[in-house]
Amino acid sequence: LAAYSGVRRIFPASPALTRGDPVRGCTGPIIEHPQIGQYIGSAGSGWGQARQDPVAVSYFIERFGEKLPGEKVREMVLRALEEWARYVEIRFVPAEDPKATHTLNFLFGKRDHGDAYAFDGPGGVAAHAFYPAPVNPESIAGDVHFDDDEPWQQATGPDFYSVALHEIGHALGLLHSDDSDAVMYPYYQTLPTLQDDDIRGIRRIYATHCIGVECAMRYSP
Ligand code: ZN
Ligand code: ZN
Repeated sequence: LAAYSGVRRIFPASPALTRGDPVRGCTGPIIEHPQIGQYIGSAGSGWGQARQDPVAVSYFIERFGEKLPGEKVREMVLRALEEWARYVEIRFVPAEDPKATHTLNFLFGKRDHGDAYAFDGPGGVAAHAFYPAPVNPESIAGDVHFDDDEPWQQATGPDFYSVALHEIGHALGLLHSDDSDAVMYPYYQTLPTLQDDDIRGIRRIYATHCIGVECAMRYSP
């Protein structure tokens, strides 16, 4: 996982970039806090108080888009949340209210959609996410917005699940990775599962969700 250096990083080119395939980049997690400098070093705190504690995080889907059926969006958001929860002790629970604290609130919007980061129409930025509190204030912290001008899931459009998987990584506290195989690489790629670098990154912030022999080792006297 790339450490934040305080300057714009140059990421190594992925095979798609090298080939000159059309790629869509992510502008990075939105970090609104004016005292960003003092937080970025501890970019590892995520939603929990202490790394070893299991964390409950809520989710809400506030507004669906025009291109994809709501049920399909809900199914892909849940699948992307579960993919992260396979590796760390995060339990995702439905929220009652999009403004609830500790909530990843998902919505589609076009151009100016209620925050200071207007979308840019078709192409360009496809989505953005807000880093967890206290880096961002509640209730925008953890929220994920999708540009409804994108041709989601159509021949030339971005894959909604893959973009959601990447943006949820930011909403949980991850910055970009310079590993071109990673979901958290700054250019979206169609990846069904998290890759090694993503798993290492999220386990630096949250407790490892152990399975089988891993648990036996952790809890053996
Ligand atoms: Zn990103
Ligand atoms: Zn937004």
